[in-house]
Amino acid sequence: MFEGLSERLSGILSGLTRRGALTEADVTAALREVRRALLEADVALEVVRTFTEKVREQAVGATVLKSVTPGQMVVKIVNDQLVAMLGAEAEVIDLNAPSPVPILMVGLQGSGKTTTTAKIAKRLTSRDRRRVLLASLDTRRPAAMEQLAVLGRQVGVETLPIVAGQSAVQIAKRAMEAARLGGFDVVMLDTAGRITIDEGLMQEAADVKAATNPHEVLLVADALTGQDAVNTARAFDQRLGVTGIVLTRMDGDARGGAALSMRAVTGKPIKLVGTGEKVDALEEFHPARVANRILGMGDIVSLVEKAAETIDQEQALRVAEKMRKGKFDLEDLSMQLAQMEKMGGIGGLMGMLPGMGQIKKQVEGANLDEKMFKRQRAIISSMTPEERRNPDILKASRKKRIAKGSGVDVAEINKLLKMHRTMADMMKVMGSGKRGLGQALGNM
Ligand code: GDP
Ligand code: MG
Repeated sequence: MFEGLSERLSGILSGLTRRGALTEADVTAALREVRRALLEADVALEVVRTFTEKVREQAVGATVLKSVTPGQMVVKIVNDQLVAMLGAEAEVIDLNAPSPVPILMVGLQGSGKTTTTAKIAKRLTSRDRRRVLLASLDTRRPAAMEQLAVLGRQVGVETLPIVAGQSAVQIAKRAMEAARLGGFDVVMLDTAGRITIDEGLMQEAADVKAATNPHEVLLVADALTGQDAVNTARAFDQRLGVTGIVLTRMDGDARGGAALSMRAVTGKPIKLVGTGEKVDALEEFHPARVANRILGMGDIVSLVEKAAETIDQEQALRVAEKMRKGKFDLEDLSMQLAQMEKMGGIGGLMGMLPGMGQIKKQVEGANLDEKMFKRQRAIISSMTPEERRNPDILKASRKKRIAKGSGVDVAEINKLLKMHRTMADMMKVMGSGKRGLGQALGNM
């Protein structure tokens, strides 16, 4: 315990004097790594370029948190910018329109349109209690129509009866009419796709759009799409006015670069994510998770986050002042324990620092965990303010009362008091001279 706390306290102390800002050189060096990570995650080159420039502007001159390297700090800034660009909040499918609400599904062949149509229908039916009608507009492939009918039966959603010889626009109009008559809330129109973008496909989808005036035009795209993501998204959006993106195959190896590319190019939100072939493998889009997947530096990000949480300048000043005066009471101890609890114990933070494995092992050996911090804080909160300020008055009867109040035995209270005394002594040494710190730590 003492090692961990000392560690933190020394951090607070040096944090008062050693704070720096990111230099141009720091940022350039770190962005080289970031650019590589983004390209490896299949973010399109033009997006990587504009993105890193934006980050550069933000990062140069930014304050580097204590206990964090400039490189780590840049990674954190990159991560936050990624999350912001991916869309800070989850978006939902907008059904706020007169019934039946048409939803047009578009995208390249094999991107997962038909599967996703069924998945969304299932979700709207069971979660949002809407009556949904499905219609396949894939006139060239009878098998595609049958595929949607099979999926519809599987999820318990009705499909428009297949009538041979009709055009996509005719089917779409028929679907809208059937939905009106049948009292459906939503009509999902599953369009045909091509392996690559072609004019015939775009024109057909545009005609269907004109005929049905869909409230949502969802672009279904494979998360594995690499550099093509930009062109695909741009083409569909320019021609059809996409309102949202559904990214499929996020269950696979895709790092998620396509999410950033498509979002950056269209400015349209990613609304849902496909995570498997099954009809319930559909999830909300979580920007933070995807940012982590793209960047692949989650450990650094959480390290910086924890450092940021921990460094509370005001409290650091307060503690430093108390140390200087040789007054570190149980109230202060309680606050320190609360911070350590927030950090997920000492082990949590230390485990992420390079070369800390050994120390972490020792600390874990000492059986320190969040539960213990909680218990110790419970003990302190069962004390009166006077007792907290002046633990010397804690004699047997008071200890018994506190033990009862906090549900521990007296031995545990004694252990806490002994720990506090040792710490307070240590701090006196540190406070008495600048060179005392190393010595005090050496003596622990
Ligand atoms: P469409 O041509 O755009 O209609 O694509 P389909 O819906 O027919 O899907 C093509 C293939 O991708 C099928 O085998 C689906 O099961 C599969 N698929 C669709 N979405 C996902 C997904 O999120 N994850 C995985 N692993 N497979 C998917
Ligand atoms: Mg299909």
